[in-house]
Amino acid sequence: MSLNFERIRKSIGFKFALWYSVIFILSSLVLFVLLYFFLSLSLKNKEKELIQLELKECVTQYQKGGLDALVKEVEFEKHISGKNPFFVRLEGPQHNTLFVNLPYQWANFDLNQLKNKAVTKKDQWEHLITKDNKDIFEISSHFSPDGSLLQVGKSLSDSNEFLKHYRVIFASILIPMIVIGFIGGMFLAVHTLQPIRYLIDTTRSIIETNKMDVRIPATRRRDELEELSILFNTMLERIETLINGMRTGLDNLAHDLRTPITRLRGTAEIALHGEQNIDAIREALLDCLEESERVLVMLNTLMDISEAETGTMKLDWEEVDLVSLINEATDLYSYVAEEKKISVRTFLPKELYLTADPNRLRQVLSNLIDNAVKYTTSSGSIDIEAFQKDQQVGITIKDTGIGIPPEEVPRIWDRLYRGDKSRSQRGIGLGLSLVKAIVQAHRGQVEVSSTANRGSSFTVYIPQKP
Ligand code: ADP
Repeated sequence: MSLNFERIRKSIGFKFALWYSVIFILSSLVLFVLLYFFLSLSLKNKEKELIQLELKECVTQYQKGGLDALVKEVEFEKHISGKNPFFVRLEGPQHNTLFVNLPYQWANFDLNQLKNKAVTKKDQWEHLITKDNKDIFEISSHFSPDGSLLQVGKSLSDSNEFLKHYRVIFASILIPMIVIGFIGGMFLAVHTLQPIRYLIDTTRSIIETNKMDVRIPATRRRDELEELSILFNTMLERIETLINGMRTGLDNLAHDLRTPITRLRGTAEIALHGEQNIDAIREALLDCLEESERVLVMLNTLMDISEAETGTMKLDWEEVDLVSLINEATDLYSYVAEEKKISVRTFLPKELYLTADPNRLRQVLSNLIDNAVKYTTSSGSIDIEAFQKDQQVGITIKDTGIGIPPEEVPRIWDRLYRGDKSRSQRGIGLGLSLVKAIVQAHRGQVEVSSTANRGSSFTVYIPQKP
């Protein structure tokens, strides 16, 4: 229980909610204080304005009709509003009180305070407090030419009462505000951090079960965390493909090596247990050497295919002069082609460059030209064309050879697959698998179109820039 609480307390979600509430409360408090300040200021100014108005009226009346007029004014005010909220005091030249109107709030007020504190300057206010500190009074004064002093004041209890209500209301909404702030923060944190929790769950599940097929669920948030989830899933996919590739690569390798090794062993056994004829033994040894050479080539090619398929093939990217590369590869097969009376023609632009691994590209060309020469009967022809199309470089190798039956076409890319009619020719059935793997490692594709007994055409497309 305590462990869970500790975990919650340390979680980003909790910290997030806490910070959210603190900021929410602090800004509410600042807003309240500012509002309170301006409200109390404006209330005070309003009260002072009223006092000034009343003082002005009293002074006018007093100057017009003396004490009687002043009393009438005070009575009139009482008559129309039921009570007169203003304190009005007239002091004679000898500081004797000639008239005083005391509203009910002033009962607790020590009038003597005023005798010594009479305000003389214009716009000056006397700020007095009741004996019990409960009420505040504002008083404004005016000296008449006859030496008398007229004082008008008002209790600020109404304004203070209003402000007190304001404070109580704020205090009563502050607690729900804190709760709402915290719940809001929690909700926000839970919602925002959901992809992180998915990430944690997915990683934990992979660690605990060793299964790579779990993925982070999509949240459709289109934010950075969603981007992270998508990237993480893509990374998992790559790793899974890599692991699966390596696993099947290993399985295939074991399976593919079994046949030649068994053959090798068979030859060696026959030589060992057969007649001890030195020529026969020599022949068997030669067979073994040839077979082991084939195994070695097969192993290297299989390794290359696996690497290319799993994306681990190291490509040495550089600017490649394709025209020269095709001419070189064609030259290599010109002798064999000539022997079979096959005419090899090239249709190449003046120059064509692309960024690729030249050695791997050479392997692609060699395998395709080798097949074309192998599977074309004498007096046939081979056309090699290079062209540029939509940021891609295309190489077509077209022959008038034996062609491929439609049912075989999808299988020619499989490892170790050899067409029925091709068995008489040398080969291990890995050439086209390697071509496809290298081309795909260059982010390109290879296409075939073939008609049995008429010929085949292989076209490789590779992006000009990776
Ligand atoms: P291999 O040539 O060693 O048999 P490949 O992987 O190069 O292996 O080719 C696989 C099969 O595809 C061949 O056995 C053959 O049947 C067919 N093939 C490839 N190229 C051609 C071609 N130019 N003409 C006819 N058949 C072909």
